[in-house]
Amino acid sequence: MNYDADVAIVGAGLGGISASISAVKEGLNPIVIERGEYSGAKNVSGGRMYIHALKSLIPDVEERAPLERPITRETYKVFCNKGRELSFTFKEKSKTSFSVLRAKFDRWYASAAEEIGVTISYGTYLMGLQEEEDGITLNTSLGDIRVKYVIDAGGVTAPVARLLGRNLKPEHLMLGVKEVISYVQDLPEDEGEATTVIGLTRGLKGGGFVYTNKDTTSIGVTLKVDSLQSGSIKASEVVENYRAGLGLRGDVLEYSAHLIPYYGWGNLPPLYYNRVLAVGDAAGLLISDGFVIRGMDLAIGSGVIAGIAVKKVIDGSPLSIYEEMLKRSFVLSDMRKAWKAFQALSNPNFYGEYEDALCEALSREFLVNGKQRPTLIEALLKSFYDNGLNFSEAVKEIWKIV
Ligand SMILES: Cc1cc2nc3c(=O)[nH]c(=O)nc-3n(C[C@H](O)[C@H](O)[C@H](O)COP(=O)(O)OP(=O)(O)OC[C@H]3O[C@@H](n4cnc5c(N)ncnc54)[C@H](O)[C@@H]3O)c2cc1C
Repeated sequence: MNYDADVAIVGAGLGGISASISAVKEGLNPIVIERGEYSGAKNVSGGRMYIHALKSLIPDVEERAPLERPITRETYKVFCNKGRELSFTFKEKSKTSFSVLRAKFDRWYASAAEEIGVTISYGTYLMGLQEEEDGITLNTSLGDIRVKYVIDAGGVTAPVARLLGRNLKPEHLMLGVKEVISYVQDLPEDEGEATTVIGLTRGLKGGGFVYTNKDTTSIGVTLKVDSLQSGSIKASEVVENYRAGLGLRGDVLEYSAHLIPYYGWGNLPPLYYNRVLAVGDAAGLLISDGFVIRGMDLAIGSGVIAGIAVKKVIDGSPLSIYEEMLKRSFVLSDMRKAWKAFQALSNPNFYGEYEDALCEALSREFLVNGKQRPTLIEALLKSFYDNGLNFSEAVKEIWKIV
């Protein structure tokens, strides 16, 4: 039988490029198809990348890649009612993550793949496919491609899975809206800050982020699509309120909106089926647990493993080897650990009620006015009770996240 390539990789985002590099290192001949005119043209990200997975492929990535700033400060900002605000910053110089601008970064990453022999066909859209006994034919906007296996790296819309009948459900999606603004934070050149913002998406399940780039700042919100559907607030209003609430001044240089998978470990779609392996967002691999939002390192990690797994499958292993390898890696192990937090964060009290009660307790605690001052635990119990909440229930829910 004639094949155009061993494996076709749909999508030249982080997952797809990683899979292609890994496949070439395994001695395979992959072809990548990408609907955009270049890698990164269709990609949106708030842009904080944990670089451990990338380093396993490109050890000197810190010297070569167009990274923005190392994240050396983690800040949490909780906005409560009555203008109250709680924040703290943790400083750490270990440089395990960097801010990135995806349009720049993905282009560089794709050229690194091309340098080692990967073929990327840009402006090529996957429109259909036919499964055959010994292969699979992809119908693309530039013609048919016949291959042994396919890696679905097409992002959250999982184009291959959709052509095979899988539908997207609102409860498994978040909407991410991101802006790059001209604001430059006053920080030393080799430092950057990642801020997690809680409480500025009132009424909707979601949160916000702010990342320091070299000469700009990335800000954005992520909102559960099902809560957007049932709420009376529009995403555009939330973003306006968010920018105003942060109080950052600067022109909006770039605006983008994109869906984000929100399955969680217990609800993951199939990671492999027929002659297909799914990586990154197409496989629902994303962690958003209140502390981090991680999709990029999971896309890279699963892509690398998919490249190795395809070679093993061609050599005779069953396709299930891919899932077994993912289970042994950080990808599914970290997804599993984040599962309790995923479940806890479906509690609507986390999106306003708990924050307000906490801030009220702190307000009671910091107030000295000559009347009997409560202890912190008394203040917490009273504030939760006054807000119609059960403090011990709240502690149990928070316990699941930590
Ligand atoms: C607002 C926002 C903020 C985020 N913040 C962070 C963060 O700070 N840190 C983090 O780690 N993650 C973050 N993420 C998640 C992260 O961006 C994704 O998890 C990651 O980009 C997934 O990579 P991927 O390769 O799976 O998919 P993508 O990067 O989406 O790549 C998919 C590619 O497939 C192509 N494609 C799709 N359909 C077809 C088709 N039919 N034919 C051909 N090509 C096709 C697309 O053009 C695209 O290039 C954020 C996401 C959003 C939206």
